[in-house]
Amino acid sequence: MPAEKADVVIVGAGIVGCSAAYFLSQEKLKVVVLEQNAIASGTSGHAPASLGLTLHYTEPPELCEMSRRGSQAVMEMAPAIAEETGIDVGFRRQPDLALAFSPHGWEEIQRLAPKQNLDNELLTAEQCYAREPRLSRDVKLYGGLWCDWAARVDSYRLTLALAQAAQKRGAQFLTRKAAGLVKQGSRVAGVVTSTGERVLCDHVLLATGVWTPEASKWVGVPLPVHPMKGEQLLLDYDGPPIDTHISGAGISNPPMVNFLFTRRSENTYLVGVTAYESYVFDSILREEAKQALLSFAVRLLPCLAEARVTGHMSGPRPIPPDGMPILGPVPSLEGAYVVVGNPGVYCCILWGQLVRDLVLRRPLSYSLKPFLPDRFSAPVQGKYGIMALREAAARHG
Ligand SMILES: Cc1cc2nc3c(=O)[nH]c(=O)nc-3n(C[C@H](O)[C@H](O)[C@H](O)COP(=O)(O)OP(=O)(O)OC[C@H]3O[C@@H](n4cnc5c(N)ncnc54)[C@H](O)[C@@H]3O)c2cc1C
Repeated sequence: MPAEKADVVIVGAGIVGCSAAYFLSQEKLKVVVLEQNAIASGTSGHAPASLGLTLHYTEPPELCEMSRRGSQAVMEMAPAIAEETGIDVGFRRQPDLALAFSPHGWEEIQRLAPKQNLDNELLTAEQCYAREPRLSRDVKLYGGLWCDWAARVDSYRLTLALAQAAQKRGAQFLTRKAAGLVKQGSRVAGVVTSTGERVLCDHVLLATGVWTPEASKWVGVPLPVHPMKGEQLLLDYDGPPIDTHISGAGISNPPMVNFLFTRRSENTYLVGVTAYESYVFDSILREEAKQALLSFAVRLLPCLAEARVTGHMSGPRPIPPDGMPILGPVPSLEGAYVVVGNPGVYCCILWGQLVRDLVLRRPLSYSLKPFLPDRFSAPVQGKYGIMALREAAARHG
């Protein structure tokens, strides 16, 4: 246990907690990170992390703007973090092609494309085949959206790199389960671990991902977060590289809610994705999901018939009921903050900087209003992000 009082205790060493540790330690603050398991053992170790502006993050405008600024920040900083730590964080530029698999999907793409506020290009089905000639004509396409502004990163490795850089600057990582808070009046004064140890501090960040409902009991404010599990296959394909990130709109192939195809490394590709609520943190791939993912991928890209299934990546996304992240100070408990939700990889840099600025009371360059933790005392308004995607898949599936 640290002998001295810390400036900030971070609960959770996922990509959010490690990014906050990175930016706080850069300011020479004394940072302690408590992790119940291993660094990046939660959701951050199970995400595909393609960066860009996925269509389901274009609404509402505040989430769109945050995802855009967040992706931009990762694109700018990932190479520097890789160089600083010597860890290859898997950062590569790649174009993004969103395909419409139904008339409804095409309407959605046309409606959402202008909201991206990016240099994107609406394509006819023929133009989609021209951009990626390996797409099969057996899957009917209604159009597509092309965007050069995209990239990918390995979220597991990026989390490790952020942690390592923070450690080099003095942040202390301890394997401990946090079990409650120490309070002094209306201020937070520390964290109590499951073995009764107390880590005293001036500020606490809850970066607890899908475990946040447990932490919400400590602060006395509802912080509902649903574990929305996603399943993805890993394939090895030795043919000529497919470097376009391909996604889909209007897919009707349950239990898939979206099609996602991305190159992860030399000859490894990822195919996704499903979304269902699962209250057990497991990385199991259901047989029906495997069949749906594989058969759709081979139907759309017949060259993948030669690919080998080498594994899978499955884990729960931390999703509040409205699909918007929860960001900011905990109401009525000075010095406590919460940062949780999707898209946590796009936004990891932005959210790490946000925690730094909240702790140091620096002005923010955007409003936190739609994301504040106090919004759950009333019924939630609207469904965004993965929650909207799930609803659309249920309606049209
Ligand atoms: C299938 C899938 C697809 C995704 N696609 C994308 C995408 O394309 N783009 C994107 O940006 N995001 C995507 N995400 C979401 C992204 O992965 C998450 O938003 C992000 O990883 C969440 O990071 P986190 O640090 O909040 O949570 P986690 O990585 O889960 O970290 C939380 C940590 O807190 C620890 N913890 C919890 N409670 C305690 C306690 N009491 N004491 C100590 N430690 C504790 C846990 O052990 C865990 O290590 C996807 C996720 C999945 C599963």
